[in-house]
Amino acid sequence: MKLLEIKDVNKSYKLAGKEKIAVLRGVNLSFDSGEFVSILGESGSGKSTLMNIIGGMDSDYEGEVIVQGKSLRSMKEKEIDAYRKNKIGFIFQSFNLIPHLTVLENVTIAMQMMDKSEKERNRRALEILEEVGLKGHVKKRPNQLSGGQKQRVAIARALANDPDIILADEPTGALDQETSEQILELLDSIAQKGVLIITVTHSQRVADFGSRIVRVEDGSIREDQALKERYHSEKKSVDKKGKSLSFLASFKLAIRNMQLKAKRNMLVALGASIGISSVLLMLSLGNGVTGYINDQINSSTNPLLIDVVKSAGGNVKAQGGPPAERLVGDPFTEEDVAKISGIKDVKSVEKATTIREKSNIVYGSKNYALPALQTVTDSVTESNIEAGTLPSGNEVLLSTGFAQRLTNEQSYGTLVGKSVKLFVNEMNSSNQPVIVEQELTVSGIYKQADRGPVGGADAYVAYSTLEEAYKQHKISLSPLQLNAYAANVNDVEHIKTDIENAGFVTSPTTKLMKQLTTYINLASWVLAAIAGISLLVSGIMILIVLYVSVVERTREIGILRAIGARKKDIQRIFFSESALIGLLSGGIAIAGALLVSFVLNMILDRAFGVELIQLTPSYMLFGLGISTLISVMAGLLPSSKAAKLDPMESLRYE
Ligand code: ADP
Ligand code: MG
Repeated sequence: MKLLEIKDVNKSYKLAGKEKIAVLRGVNLSFDSGEFVSILGESGSGKSTLMNIIGGMDSDYEGEVIVQGKSLRSMKEKEIDAYRKNKIGFIFQSFNLIPHLTVLENVTIAMQMMDKSEKERNRRALEILEEVGLKGHVKKRPNQLSGGQKQRVAIARALANDPDIILADEPTGALDQETSEQILELLDSIAQKGVLIITVTHSQRVADFGSRIVRVEDGSIREDQALKERYHSEKKSVDKKGKSLSFLASFKLAIRNMQLKAKRNMLVALGASIGISSVLLMLSLGNGVTGYINDQINSSTNPLLIDVVKSAGGNVKAQGGPPAERLVGDPFTEEDVAKISGIKDVKSVEKATTIREKSNIVYGSKNYALPALQTVTDSVTESNIEAGTLPSGNEVLLSTGFAQRLTNEQSYGTLVGKSVKLFVNEMNSSNQPVIVEQELTVSGIYKQADRGPVGGADAYVAYSTLEEAYKQHKISLSPLQLNAYAANVNDVEHIKTDIENAGFVTSPTTKLMKQLTTYINLASWVLAAIAGISLLVSGIMILIVLYVSVVERTREIGILRAIGARKKDIQRIFFSESALIGLLSGGIAIAGALLVSFVLNMILDRAFGVELIQLTPSYMLFGLGISTLISVMAGLLPSSKAAKLDPMESLRYE
């Protein structure tokens, strides 16, 4: 079986109109391993066209190309790519090295799409480079080499995947005579190992060097002349497993290329980052404002607290003044308390009551009416205590205003620890007036907030203290208000609903707060969305830059395709590049947002004592993600354009 057979190949190019020009006319040739064939013909006679057809770069022809018994026409695109990669080594007149890669990398790149470890690839590449006489030049870049050296690199690259056929299109066309001879010697030594070498030349002198000359004229074979015996050594056919260009390799290539255009890429990333940065700042501002408002509300109201009052026949009326719309209803029974305690997710229930306009405090010789006496609940917090502590058994906490009245505004703090007497005018069960009397120690002074949860109360005692005092006078104290506590803020809403369904009334404070934060969140997302319009601009910018990059690298794409890169591999390189730009701009955006929020927070802190921009790690992650996403999406079109480029046309691209 012949290694390569060309049967009745006809090829014509379509010109602008419908005119066709025939370039190859009925070409029939067959080749064996170990041959060194020179295809000799004048410029324009169709030599390169023939090489491209043999190399699987061009499938638009009539006739058959049969390699080791298998027709190229029967192969799928993937198989053709594998064929180019494994069976064919291309060598061009203009070397076609990738300028931004080193000599070593130019050789290993062909092996990146093979199933070999990096170490093994480097070892093999060094071995081949030594073979072609470039041992000391592996770290150089193509533009640091002479023409002959460049062609040796190209030969090394062609040999990298151990091909059966080497196609060299005018390999010495750009070299002087002496260098040409060295290159031809090198090719001859490769043929000696059993590789089929097909070179194209228009020089008789070069053609004479090989073992056979095929003369082409006007697309037809004029003469097929054997000069000497072919080399008979059998080339060992190694089983080669191909794979796609790994993501790591494509990222490395992309990074290389981005470094090459570092300034441009930085500018694009910077531009794109502005949009991301503003989105992040808007979200962080919303977050900060919401947090601030929540804090403000929570510092005066316990968010877990649900006020409950009992309504008997619409008897409930709202009493003005702080806290907003505190309701006063009927006394709760023990049964009611048990019912509310039993509601799902209620952690505890606290009894509370307010005694209005029927109590007095006597301190020494002074007797003052207490407009409002309240029982202490969890919402009376340490933080508002001016002096002393919260009241426990038989103690009373006085408001600053009331304490000032008792001491004639002077050093009311000295009241702490003093003894006072409390009187409450009550009715017993048989409607007889009773005066409840109890001696209490002042536990502390409570700073009255303008709008506190305990509103205008003047004195606070523990519910148990009041209950005990009532008991001693044979009256039972029933709470007018119950404070139900949820274990979790998220449970508050459903507990309120359950309590109301059980026939009680709850205050609307928490709901309002929730609505307010919802609106702020909404507003910050709307602002972020407006800032997001600039993301569109970023996307378009990245799109344009990648298009330019594709155009700039058309030739490189052609080279990669010629050495066996699949469409997918090319797509991956540009995909990596767009992802990298996205990551870069995301990173810059985060840094920018951090800086701006730091400076703004400092100014806000000075002016108002609050840091309103709360940039969280999750926002940063979101920024990085969205930036990468936009960039990758912008990269879709250019990278698929790159993948679709015709390999032959790309190589011809100047
Ligand atoms: P050679 O390599 O022998 O110099 P080519 O195979 O490159 O010749 O070209 C053979 C003929 O085909 C030339 O006349 C050339 O102008 C024409 N030709 C080559 N490529 C194209 C193309 N893509 N479109 C139209 N004509 C082409
Ligand atoms: Mg040519």
